[in-house]
Amino acid sequence: MTTMLSDTVALLGDLISFPTVSDLSNLDMIAYLAYRLEETGASVEVLHDELGHKANLFATIGPEVDGGIVLSGHSDVVPVKDQDWASDPFEMIEHDGRLYGRGSCDMKGFIAAATAMAPLFAERVRERPVHFAFTYDEEVGCFGARALVKYLKNKGLHPDIAVVGEPTSMRVIEGHKGCNEYTTRFSGLAGHGSAPERGVNAVEYAVRYVGRLLELKDALRARAPAGSRFDPPWTTINTGSLKGGVLHNVIAGSATVEWEMRPVQEADADFVKSDLKDYCEKTLLPAMRRVCPEAAITTETIGEVAGLQPAEINEARDIVMELTGANATDLVAFGTEAGIFQSLGMSAVICGPGSIDQAHKPDEFVAIDQLQQCIDMLDRLTRKLAA
Ligand SMILES: [Zn+2]
Repeated sequence: MTTMLSDTVALLGDLISFPTVSDLSNLDMIAYLAYRLEETGASVEVLHDELGHKANLFATIGPEVDGGIVLSGHSDVVPVKDQDWASDPFEMIEHDGRLYGRGSCDMKGFIAAATAMAPLFAERVRERPVHFAFTYDEEVGCFGARALVKYLKNKGLHPDIAVVGEPTSMRVIEGHKGCNEYTTRFSGLAGHGSAPERGVNAVEYAVRYVGRLLELKDALRARAPAGSRFDPPWTTINTGSLKGGVLHNVIAGSATVEWEMRPVQEADADFVKSDLKDYCEKTLLPAMRRVCPEAAITTETIGEVAGLQPAEINEARDIVMELTGANATDLVAFGTEAGIFQSLGMSAVICGPGSIDQAHKPDEFVAIDQLQQCIDMLDRLTRKLAA
């Protein structure tokens, strides 16, 4: 094993031992990474969330100027509850060229490689800075990345490029759909089933709302961007659950619809949201309130993960293709923080060690060979930045 690889493996073992499940604090792991990066002379900021239980880390090696390259990873991992692991998920085990542990591929492997390489970046980086962005709460809605982007905006710092090291088996990924989840609640007026006109049947209004979702679902097909490489190429809508009412002879007083859409472009999400807002305000609510002025429809946003739109001009993609020697790129079905960086005007690409097939599963692992490939890519990046 090269020194860099054994440093990375040791660091990964340390990172896995922090149980940074999304509902727990990540502060210990962030403090550890801050210490490791400060040792190399990086300027490090630890940015706490409102409650102070979690933090993002943003570190810079090189001059504090615009135009830098962000290496990004989320510090949180998914729970191990109800999963059958062969060993302690928070103690890394090496077996057959693989490193097992929660977060090994999603995505502490990338964070370990980037942090282990920090001394080399410190030695070689000249004009173009490299930044390390390690975030919280990716797995539950990308809240950390959103806060981080706000911080960069306020600071007036404009990095050019984001490399998000989610597990892609080191393939170069330049796009994924967004994922927006909503819960819409209908509050009507219950009553006896024999006198429907005296109540407001929430289930019936919920059904009309779902009907509207179906119409939108069709309309979205026609809006598919020309040459879209997504599968399917348009924005999709899914009604995941419809619940409401009590029994046969009672007017349903309440109902809930859980639904999602996966936009291929931000404009589609705006189109759907404004259409539904109009439909509720101009059609459903006036009808409901004629009988019961307190009747209401509310929509709660469960999560909105911005999509990463493939762009013709994408420096992040071009650089990572050059660094990895890839001659093709791909799109993926899973969401990442890359779209949030893109929304800040940066070019973004996803490329990291390990396979998404192992993510979120028991006995999650990253192959050591994948870590080596990631180190090789970062090593070429240090040389590029030294030139
Ligand atoms: Zn992930």
